[in-house]
Amino acid sequence: MSAARRIFVMKFFGPEAEGEDTETIRTTFRLVVQRSTFLIAAVCLFDSAMFYSIGDEQWWWCLSVSLACLPAYYFVDLKRSFPVFLVTVLLIIAVIIWYGTHVALRFGSGINFHFKLIAILPLIAVSGRMSVRAKWIAMVAFTAWMIYLDYRVTLTPNSPLLNPLVSEFMRALNYGLPLLVIAAVVLHYFQLVTEQQALLKEHATTDPLTGLMNRRRLREVWTLAEADGRRGSFPLSIVLCDVDRFKSINDTYGHDVGDGVLQQLGQALRNEVRMTDSVCRWGGEEFLLLLPHSDSVQAMVTANRIRENIAAMPLQIGGHTLNVTITMGVATLQHEEKFEDAAHRADVALYAGKAAGRNRTMAAATHYPAL
Ligand code: GH3
Ligand code: MG
Ligand code: MG
Repeated sequence: MSAARRIFVMKFFGPEAEGEDTETIRTTFRLVVQRSTFLIAAVCLFDSAMFYSIGDEQWWWCLSVSLACLPAYYFVDLKRSFPVFLVTVLLIIAVIIWYGTHVALRFGSGINFHFKLIAILPLIAVSGRMSVRAKWIAMVAFTAWMIYLDYRVTLTPNSPLLNPLVSEFMRALNYGLPLLVIAAVVLHYFQLVTEQQALLKEHATTDPLTGLMNRRRLREVWTLAEADGRRGSFPLSIVLCDVDRFKSINDTYGHDVGDGVLQQLGQALRNEVRMTDSVCRWGGEEFLLLLPHSDSVQAMVTANRIRENIAAMPLQIGGHTLNVTITMGVATLQHEEKFEDAAHRADVALYAGKAAGRNRTMAAATHYPAL
């Protein structure tokens, strides 16, 4: 943000405004304003028809406001610059408040035209650029104006042009519409929060390179699986996998090919295990498999099958054909054992496998037979 714009934002919208002005908030606010412009145009067109039908000259003004919303719809689009957007929004609000007040005082409490203006409140609240302080000032000032207007409207005699049917219909519309707009805005932002939360959770729990779960998520899954395992007394095993001589793949073919190897291996591991098993990118070129319902023997059989399949599977990456092998350490959760301890045992077994020549599967503890 340029210095001039920063001063402008701080002076007129408060220092906090900058922090709240995220891409999502800005895009969403523009969308909400654009939809509101469309709604105002439609409602004014409808009001214009109603006023015309009762022979009130307001129909012409109402139609003008509706038509003025057409260029406004264009000027509040995301593609337009902020100054253009700001001027348009301020103009819309000024015209709507002026016109709403004028019509409300003309027709009195017979139709309570001013109720419609209430829909402006949520728009102030969700604006991206204003600070919380500025929003409160605007919302309180607007509410004070509404209270004053309501007082004046109740003192205004109803227009003699209004017949009971039109009167009741417009009253219902003027009351119901702002309520629905408020509900729609709240719902829209509720959905936004829910979507953003889901996105954040996905980012926080997924490894961006392979799309597999990361360590953080694995810990959560482990805690759940461990609790289930202890309750249901079923075994739980982990298999730690490390790509053999991966550094030389990077050195020979480049980092991008190395990345491709990790992606394909991640996918291959995912395809090799059951739906109820978990595959995690544990670190650089290490993966961890979590196998519920697999005891030490079953986990060793599974790990060996996977290792052999991967060794026999040529990887096609960037025009190169690579044969990659992995070494594995297998540990099965012992009574009252912590995850870190089981992972450590698997790690020790893995390095024993490396020392023994790589491309092999090693069981973690001596009382589990190594295949
Ligand atoms: P060993 O058989 O003993 O496991 O040998 P190694 O070469 O696989 O192990 P080492 O720990 O020496 O090297 C691991 C390499 O993995 C070093 C690091 O640059 C690379 N690496 C880690 N994360 C990534 C990644 O995300 N992408 C790529 N391309 N390389 C990575
Ligand atoms: Mg390693
Ligand atoms: Mg390695």
